[in-house]
Amino acid sequence: MKVALIDLKESRNGCNNKDKAGGFGNKSHGEDLISRIYAYFKHSQVDVPVMHFGYMAAIFRQHGHTVKFYDAEPEDEELVIMASSIVGYDEELSFARRIQKPGRKIGFINAFATVKPEIFLNASDFVIKGEPEQATIEIAKGNVKPEGVIDSALIFDLESLPFPDWDGFPVSRYGYYPVLKKKPLISILTSRGCSFDCSYCPYMVTQTERWRRRSAKHVCDEIEYLQKKYKVRSLVFRDIMYTQSKQRAIQISEEIIRRGIRVEWSCETRADCLEEDTLRLLHRSGLRVIHLGIESPEDQIVKDSGRIPIKEMQQEKIVRLCEKIGIDVIGFYILGFVADTQKSMRRTIDYAKHLNTPLAQFDVMTPYPGTKFYDEMRDRILSHNWKEYTTHHPVVRLDNVSHEEVLDFKNRAYREYYFRSSWMLKHGLKTVLG
Ligand code: SF4
Repeated sequence: MKVALIDLKESRNGCNNKDKAGGFGNKSHGEDLISRIYAYFKHSQVDVPVMHFGYMAAIFRQHGHTVKFYDAEPEDEELVIMASSIVGYDEELSFARRIQKPGRKIGFINAFATVKPEIFLNASDFVIKGEPEQATIEIAKGNVKPEGVIDSALIFDLESLPFPDWDGFPVSRYGYYPVLKKKPLISILTSRGCSFDCSYCPYMVTQTERWRRRSAKHVCDEIEYLQKKYKVRSLVFRDIMYTQSKQRAIQISEEIIRRGIRVEWSCETRADCLEEDTLRLLHRSGLRVIHLGIESPEDQIVKDSGRIPIKEMQQEKIVRLCEKIGIDVIGFYILGFVADTQKSMRRTIDYAKHLNTPLAQFDVMTPYPGTKFYDEMRDRILSHNWKEYTTHHPVVRLDNVSHEEVLDFKNRAYREYYFRSSWMLKHGLKTVLG
């Protein structure tokens, strides 16, 4: 069977990265000059593959099928699988309708198709719900027909999967500038799930709170394979909570060092899951960038949104340690929590400026469908226009501030953050020039 995997470029206008935001896809968008520059920068420089596609390509090939990746129209493949997104779904649906032909089956994967399969079945033959690998195995074996809604079970033994196969993917295009500058760059997934289970986390929709892990040996075997095959020099660890087990993170770094692997990498984690010794070891094994979800300095607001807050002292300690060791921190902040006030949003911006990390991103709180938070917000939701679920538009009724005020604070956040002498002197040149 000939299989096409499609990450549609059309729906990627404005940087719809379909591996981000839990697989709902995100879109960079700016209302004023500074946030537009930030959005442009992200759009033009950040490009990572849909991680599941690497696994699906490997599974289909393992079972004797041919697989091609496209970001535009496929050729004569009889099975076409597209990555869905919340922000670009209407383009994806029109595209699916356009490429329909007799003898061809078209299907969708990813988070939005998982929670709203009926939308996608309007224009396609099937939707794979959840992590798609188990269903892919069954389709590849001929045990399951690509029709209707296919529930795909979680993979508990991640080492039972083949390594992702990126042959035919635009590996030279992938990049994560300015945080990881060396290319070729590719993504790697060493664990899935997160037991913190924050109620608004979009990754919970497909990956769930069941944390599953690969061993240090298995991870390092893949890194060596990626280096041999694609000459990769940078890796984006796409785990949603990389240091959930510090012990395992330590083992992976020790194994990278023991094998003499030279690679630069980034990961995403929480400041309360890091310590100085661990950070130093991770840095020795190539860690150069950490994404930290800081969200808001207002503990109660964070708690009310279903996340365990992290003490300011701990966050600052980790940010300063990273500075000392040579690890860049990207801080993620959220504005427009239900209980946010002008004062609390002001405090979030000031706190971000105080931490003064090399990069900071300010998103608007968004209840993604399929999350517990979405159910909690049900009575407050003001917009069911999914195209607004970009983290750039408030979509719920807030207690104390208007949507205009949230957007004003968001624009102000970018302006104030990046137009500051203390940011420019400390990070500006390095960030822009590399
Ligand atoms: S800690 Fe991060 S990855 Fe884990 S559930 Fe919360 S937001 Fe998601």
